Parts: sequence; C-alpha cells; structure tokens
Amino acid sequence: MTLFSTTSLTSYLLTRLHPAAPKLTLRQQRKYKIRVQSPIKPRLRQLRKTLTMMLIATSTSLLCEPARALQVQVQPENPQLGDTLSVVIETETVGIEPTVSMQQKTYPSFATSPNRYRALLPTTPLDQPGTLQLQVTGDGEVKNISVPLRNRSFVTQRIWLSESASQPATERELNLVREFKKLITPQKFWNGRFLKPSSGRVSTVFGVRRYYNGVFANNYYHRGVDYATGTGSPVVAPAAGRVALVGRVSEGFRVHGNTVGVDHGQGVTSIFLHLNTIEVKSGDFVQAGQRIGTVGSTGASTGPHLHWGLYVHGVSVDPVPWRFQGLN
Ligand SMILES: [Zn+2]
Repeated sequence: MTLFSTTSLTSYLLTRLHPAAPKLTLRQQRKYKIRVQSPIKPRLRQLRKTLTMMLIATSTSLLCEPARALQVQVQPENPQLGDTLSVVIETETVGIEPTVSMQQKTYPSFATSPNRYRALLPTTPLDQPGTLQLQVTGDGEVKNISVPLRNRSFVTQRIWLSESASQPATERELNLVREFKKLITPQKFWNGRFLKPSSGRVSTVFGVRRYYNGVFANNYYHRGVDYATGTGSPVVAPAAGRVALVGRVSEGFRVHGNTVGVDHGQGVTSIFLHLNTIEVKSGDFVQAGQRIGTVGSTGASTGPHLHWGLYVHGVSVDPVPWRFQGLN
C-alpha cells in the first residue's frame, strides 16, 4: 500500500534532508535585515486566516438560508370559490408526509419527489370569500399561510315543486355514494388535464344556486356539470382511475339513477349520474377517454343528460380548472 504519492514523498524527503540555512549571528541578521521567525508563527497566522474565512462563510450561509425548513407554495395564487387549492410542500425530512389543515379539517399530502409533497384542498360556493387560514404541519413545525379566496357570482335558478314531485333517495344509494366519495387512494391515477366526459353541450354549469318555491336553498349548489345530449350517447372517463362504484336503479339508486364512480386517486373522485347503460364493473381500471356507459335519464332527471360531479376529499369542486389548466 502506498502511503505517499511520489511527489509528496519527494517534497517530504527534501524538507527532511536539506539542512536549515547556516546559523547567522545577530549582527549578521541585522546586516541582512533577516528576521528570524519561529516556524509556528506563519502556521498560526494561516490558521487564523482560515478560521476567519470559515466564520464569514458560515455567517453568509446563515443569512442566505431560511431559518425554517418548511417551504410552502399554494396554487392558484388568486383562487375563487369552487377552485381546488394545490399546496406544494418541501421538507427537509424524507418520508414523513406533511398535513394541511383548513377550517378544522385536515388534508393529507402525497409525495411528488423524495422531499416534495402536494395536498389538494377543496373550496365551494358555500365558503365565505375572504382570507383562508392554512396550517401546514411537517418537519416538526407548523407554518401558517393566508390565502385570499375571491368571491364569485353563481347563476341562480328558481324551481317550483309540487309536494309529490320528488321521491327521496334510498338509504342504500346515499350510503354507497357517501362511502365512495370518502376514498383516499395513495396512488395518483390521473395525468394532465381532464377530458370532457360527454360530447353534449353544457346545459348546467357547476355551482348554480337555487330557490325552491321562492326560498333560497342555503346548502344547495349544483355539484357538477350537466351535458345535454341524446340517450345512448357515449360517456367516457375524463381521466384514468378505478371504477369504485356501480349503482343501478334496480338496486335502489332511485335519485342518482344508473351511476358509475371512478376513483382517480389521492382523494379525487368522479361520479356520473342518470346513465342509460353501464359498460364497466366495479374494480375495473379505466383509461382517460375510455367508454364507461351511455347518457340516459334514469333517477331524478327530467330529460337525457349526463351529470358529472368531480370531488376532492368528498367535496364537489369546479371541474373547469381541472379541464382547462389541469392539476398535476
Ligand atoms: Zn346535474
């Protein structure tokens, strides 16, 4: 094993073998203006210099680096009622998912790279516009973030119903739909913008508010988008996912009608109502654009149309940003 490289060995030997310069008397030293220095002094000076440099470097890096490890970014920067908030969190600790709390609810985040995470938070037409307070917990700290939520006006409809007009939903359909919307699958199945699930024209946009028999329905908003088209027209999956709900009128889906629910993963789900036919079964994996059934008018529906509801952690959000900007 070589302990010294050839060059370092040579210089080592030279310094050892060459005798020091012949000793001069004090008078000779004065004459030649030679100052005898102890060999330790330059080393001390060098050490002092190095330490000073290190100190400067450390204080500079302390000034440049943020005091806290958690980095948070919220998109969109200027959200409005119904938008989905995308909260990107960078941590120093790898492997521990941060969480985001908003209005007493805690939302999970999912890794997008080793120390980068993303949480999706729903907002709705029922929210108060103004400042949203977010608490991001991760890396043993809590970071408070204020997000301005813009107001937005929604179309209102006036509906007059006779007392016998509508039948209530069955317990079975309510329970199955509720359980479906709760799904939080860690995998992310969608990729890029969502597709239009029907070629029909949009007949009712997301978020429409209603007066029933002249009384404003405080908790109602149209939880999806309606596409009007003929019975039998194809319905396609707007994004990839797993079929996690199939309900039929014959099995108690009295209000929803023939229904398909697709789990896109990470708390994002789509529900398709009033279908004429269903062409998938529970557990099937569907690709974006794949046929899942046909438009119909089953359940509580007044004419053939597709109702597509997009949910984030069980809350109906505006699909428009998902369709046109995409939340990846
Ligand atoms: Zn609808």
